[in-house]
Amino acid sequence: MPDYMFLLESRLSPEQRAAMMRVQELSSALGFNVYLTGGTVRDLITGASLRDLDFTVEGNPSRIARELEKGGAKVLVEDEKLRQVELLFAGDCDGSISAARDDHYVRPGTRPEIRWSTIMEDLRRRDFSLNAIAISLNPASRGLLLDPTNGLSDVERAEVRALTIHSFTNQPVRLLRVLRFAARMGFKMEQRTQEWFDLAIERELHHTITPEDAGAELQAAAREERPAVVLKAWEEHDLLEAISPVLAKKHPGYEAIGRLMKVREDLFTAGFRPRLATPMLLAILGRLKDREQASLLSKVGFRSAESAAVLEFEEVALEAQKELLGKKMKAPIDAYRFLEKLPLDQMAYLLAESNKSAALSKIRAYLNKWRPVRLGLPGVTAQLEALGMPRGPKFDNVVEQVFAMQLTGRGKTPEEREKILRKITGIKEQPKKKEKEKKPAKGTDKAHAAAAMGSAAKHKHAAAKADAKHAAKGKPARAKSAAKHHAPAPRGKTAPASKKRHSRK
Ligand code: ATP
Ligand code: MG
Repeated sequence: MPDYMFLLESRLSPEQRAAMMRVQELSSALGFNVYLTGGTVRDLITGASLRDLDFTVEGNPSRIARELEKGGAKVLVEDEKLRQVELLFAGDCDGSISAARDDHYVRPGTRPEIRWSTIMEDLRRRDFSLNAIAISLNPASRGLLLDPTNGLSDVERAEVRALTIHSFTNQPVRLLRVLRFAARMGFKMEQRTQEWFDLAIERELHHTITPEDAGAELQAAAREERPAVVLKAWEEHDLLEAISPVLAKKHPGYEAIGRLMKVREDLFTAGFRPRLATPMLLAILGRLKDREQASLLSKVGFRSAESAAVLEFEEVALEAQKELLGKKMKAPIDAYRFLEKLPLDQMAYLLAESNKSAALSKIRAYLNKWRPVRLGLPGVTAQLEALGMPRGPKFDNVVEQVFAMQLTGRGKTPEEREKILRKITGIKEQPKKKEKEKKPAKGTDKAHAAAAMGSAAKHKHAAAKADAKHAAKGKPARAKSAAKHHAPAPRGKTAPASKKRHSRK
């Protein structure tokens, strides 16, 4: 069995790993089988970044959700009928927990009847084979890959394959989904899937995509790493109309999308992983008038609070910019404190869209200069400790004062920082004479050196003796002990997942 658990654990962030352990614990306490499913497993296998954790349990996940909430998780959406919970696990990682279910269609294209099921039935009811793979998280089969529709081989062939001839009839939104996954991953449609797709378009099934489904896809596009690729694929197939005829006519704001993508790269470089779905949605809808945007969002089922968050985003970001340019933000430390709290999506939006150079230069200074200084603060802390200042509120205060000075360009070298620290704390340099006194007397020095030499010589002698003994036996003496003491190389390097797979088949 390939070691998917190893592959998984090596790819999860510490927060994701903690979330996974907690879901496992809670499922096991309730006696539910639990699996990682959907996008998580697909992304794991294809090497894409693991954006969220999708769990499926053979049972009702609502009690798990309640327990997770007690530990700091936030439930974002709970669909009691579908027994599906979308949540933000403690540590800010996205995910979902769903009950295993089968969608039973009395006739193709009718509303499915939901039946609670086993994981295998659940996987078979899914949209595409690459989304129908699971990894068991149950003690007896932890790491086992469940792939009843042979999705792994489709991934290897770089194809998106629908699971039944009725796939698009049953859920026309899959017309958007198949293009989204193919465009995102650079895959093509499997031959029969392509035929079913063409047939569905010929029968104009895309006109029957429900507004809510279209809205969910629009949101999914805004969360994509490369939204433009997906939007262009939809446009090429005349499917953008299924989301909004106005958007299809006016086209997505590709320039604004491009600017935001560039900013995202810069933020990545500065060590941030921003969630840019809201400004991205605004960029996509950027060519529409305000009232067109509002009407589009309400048509595709955005709740009023969700719409408001999008429609008022620009105003909120510009308000923040105004504050950043205000008198209270003259000192870099004040601007730093403000930017530290500014939501990253607003910061990204300003970087992409603002024409106020003063605001932009403050944000850039924050990202490229001030934050690195902040991250180097443990160095200042260590210096202050070395000067003999005890830890406590006063200590922290001094460190903050030094930080504020560093933001104005002072204290760049350790020597300069020491001077600043002494000045703030009043800790005087020790008179040089005392330093001399500290040094051991010449005689003692020599005695120490002799003792040290003696022990080194002893070691050398013993090693030479061992060498001679092993040479007589014809093998290098220290190779064995060196191997024994050598720290093992990281597992990922010595045993790549693919190799491990072969060896454990
Ligand atoms: P993403 O990376 O965009 O989140 P995802 O595959 O996780 O991709 P979701 O929309 O989060 O997509 O859905 C999770 C899983 O639920 C999918 O992988 C798929 O197995 C299943 N699924 C979602 N929508 C459908 C659908 N319309 N028909 C069948 N299965 C679906
Ligand atoms: Mg997902």
